[in-house]
Amino acid sequence: MKNHTVDILVIGGGINGTGIALDAVGRGLSVILCEQNDLASGTSSKSTKLIHGGLRYLEHGAFKLVHESLNEREVLMKKAPHLISPLTFIIPYQPQSRPPWMIRLGLWIYDHLGHRVTLPGSESVSLEGTDFGAPLKTSFKKGFSYSDCRVDDARLVVENAVAAKALGAEIFTRCRVIRYGVKDKRWEVETEYKGNRQIFYARVLINATGPWIQSQAFSMKLVKGSHIIVPRVYEGEHAYLIQHSDKRVIFAIPYEKHFTLIGTTEEMYEGDPSKAHIDETEKNYLVNAFNEYFQHTLTLKDIVADYSGVRPLIGDGSENPSNISREYILSLDQSQGAPILSVFGGKITTYRRLAEHAMEKISHFFPQMKSAWTKEATLPGGDIPHGSLSSYIHAMGIKYPFLSESELSRLVHCYGTRMEMILAPFEGADRAPAFGDLAPFEGADRAPAFGDLAPFEKGAAPQAQGFYEQELAYSVTHEFTQTADDFLTRRTKLYLSKNAPTLQKIRDWFAKNRL
Ligand SMILES: Cc1cc2nc3c(=O)[nH]c(=O)nc-3n(C[C@H](O)[C@H](O)[C@H](O)COP(=O)(O)OP(=O)(O)OC[C@H]3O[C@@H](n4cnc5c(N)ncnc54)[C@H](O)[C@@H]3O)c2cc1C
Repeated sequence: MKNHTVDILVIGGGINGTGIALDAVGRGLSVILCEQNDLASGTSSKSTKLIHGGLRYLEHGAFKLVHESLNEREVLMKKAPHLISPLTFIIPYQPQSRPPWMIRLGLWIYDHLGHRVTLPGSESVSLEGTDFGAPLKTSFKKGFSYSDCRVDDARLVVENAVAAKALGAEIFTRCRVIRYGVKDKRWEVETEYKGNRQIFYARVLINATGPWIQSQAFSMKLVKGSHIIVPRVYEGEHAYLIQHSDKRVIFAIPYEKHFTLIGTTEEMYEGDPSKAHIDETEKNYLVNAFNEYFQHTLTLKDIVADYSGVRPLIGDGSENPSNISREYILSLDQSQGAPILSVFGGKITTYRRLAEHAMEKISHFFPQMKSAWTKEATLPGGDIPHGSLSSYIHAMGIKYPFLSESELSRLVHCYGTRMEMILAPFEGADRAPAFGDLAPFEGADRAPAFGDLAPFEKGAAPQAQGFYEQELAYSVTHEFTQTADDFLTRRTKLYLSKNAPTLQKIRDWFAKNRL
């Protein structure tokens, strides 16, 4: 039973909750964050994985949202260059869709509405006989290109939580808030962690539970969006934005090294957001939409993975989910005797600004609170020397010559400069420490008995036998990883690997260590 009162208790470990926790703790406030499952296990790992202005939101006149989002692209790229990188989009021109002048005007506004330093502007491109046109049906002769960014959404959440913890926030995962109420002008929050109840006290409560949020004040709608992942269907690192015949847009995006991500559908949803899953109609919709525009023919059998996310949108009477606003709302309520700030909506892209706005909303409760600081601060692993990821990858290749090109790239894109925390024991090794062939796991019986992880927290060196295991130990020690699923699907994307024995060894490692 903790009866000290923290300044802020955040419910929800998605991008908004962790972003707020980090901003608040960096301003000198004491912070607790409770997440009922794993970090990013809600919508924040189920997005289209874009840091984008949202070209199509221009059509709905959402200039403020688009402006804020566009500005954030450059800011976030600097904060986490290992997780966020520029991406070129191709829009094939279709005479039956929006007229070219409208697309050009939209792109011109997109180019000029936000601050742009490194991202190239939009232009008209030829699709005839070009790399951009090669994957498409030959009827597409012309198109447009523009730039946005891609992001590892789940890792962005984790890095915010890691940074918050480093500054003193207490982050509890698998810790569900089951009740809260006001007692003596402060919030009494009851939580459950693996069957154990615990009470926390906080001056301000922040509800960042995404689609789990309830509201009496607003009419809220839940909208489900699903994606499919298929083996790479075209060469090149550019993405496509298809204006589908139903006026919706569908993205095809290069994903990890060997896959293409295709999405999204949009359907009204009711029920528990954690139960959302793709149905056959959605799969068919995405496969058929893809097949209408690309040379390659997909079938349902090509789908290697899928995921569905749910977002809460503040209803405006519109029945078409595509038309409902993506603007976020921060609602402060003091009617219960202590302040509670509820977060409705938002995008991955706007999380940092949303956190700043949240701090503004509650600033009068904390006159000692420091000013905004997150714009310039890098996230853990984001302090890439001179901001050049390619130079860093090159330098790491020299330092750890046993890494294959793809492993090196994977580690840098996952952990940024923190990959050296994993690899440090192997510095100077001239051959791979039996990596790849899984030898590290052969010594699994010599793995540390993590049990409750206490040895790690006390700083005892994990006796990892190889650096795959070293990576698992790092993940458990530093990144709130508790299960094989946390590691395989959110800390990394190794679940997509075809190497079944590797996956099994990783699962066995977690089972063996009772994590
Ligand atoms: C299909 C789709 C595609 C998208 N694509 C993009 C995109 O490309 N770019 C972009 O910028 N945005 C995108 N978005 C929007 C973006 O993903 C969301 O706005 C964002 O992830 C919401 O984050 P959140 O933290 O508010 O919610 P969540 O990530 O859902 O986090 C809420 C958390 O609260 C936890 N929780 C709930 N109840 C409790 C409780 N009682 N106790 C403790 N914890 C609790 C949940 O477990 C969950 O982890 C997309 C959204 C969808 C649905």
